[in-house]
Amino acid sequence: MDGGGDQSGQAQKQKGAISNIVIIIAMQSEALPLVDRFHLTEDPHSPFPQGVPWVRYHGSYKDLNINLIWPGKDPALGVDSVGTISSALVTYAAIQALHPDLIINAGTAGGFKAKGASVGDIFIISDCAFHDRRIPIPVFDLYGVGLRKAFETPNLVKELNLQVAKLSTGDSLDMTQQDESSIISNDATVKDMEGAAVAYVAELLKVPAIFVKAVTDIVDGDKPTAEEFLQNLAAVTAALDVAVEKVISFINGKSLSEL
Ligand code: SAH
Repeated sequence: MDGGGDQSGQAQKQKGAISNIVIIIAMQSEALPLVDRFHLTEDPHSPFPQGVPWVRYHGSYKDLNINLIWPGKDPALGVDSVGTISSALVTYAAIQALHPDLIINAGTAGGFKAKGASVGDIFIISDCAFHDRRIPIPVFDLYGVGLRKAFETPNLVKELNLQVAKLSTGDSLDMTQQDESSIISNDATVKDMEGAAVAYVAELLKVPAIFVKAVTDIVDGDKPTAEEFLQNLAAVTAALDVAVEKVISFINGKSLSEL
């Protein structure tokens, strides 16, 4: 399109290098440090329907076009629009509007010490599933669990020395006993409120998706989750931020098959 595009840009394209990334982040406190780090700016002409709280920040970083999508604050209550519904909607809208080569869902999560997780750990997710969609009818049970594989990134994991684990998603911050047994059968090390929903939409629309999750609280520990979450949020978000920058720097100049 731009006939005079620079040499390295052309070479990148021929090689099939990833150029357009959508990062989906649920909470403002997780999103803003990355907006600063990548010098992103808020799109005044949002590609999203008028009146929705969804926010697109964008900019370029090295050879990449970065879009960070945050579902914004609930219009009635003013809190972050966390959870599966908002994250599925923004993932759908962002794919439709921005045609990314790759989606990255980054965020905080609860971790299970029984599976080796500690506060501050960063995980790349291999599999996502739901733990609060119980439909005890043959085949619907599997639909409810909604197991999906993340896009595999063996080189990224090795190079950045990251841990790989399974993620279980549900719409509650706390965990009932039934949730717990589903999480155990999902073999999950981390628990969040968005990942499997992003994975569902990404698979529907055939866009590869990867998940970077940072542990803010230990679910099978003795501290109340909400309290521990809030206590660790700032420090863990900073660690997440550093990890996401490393992931994006690794992705720069590479094709999907090189991840
Ligand atoms: N903003 C609220 C709480 C947000 S809900 C507050 O400040 O109190 C928690 C968010 O962090 C969700 O986006 C979820 O994906 C993630 N999260 C962190 N720990 C979690 C846990 N133990 N279980 C589920 N989600 C968790």
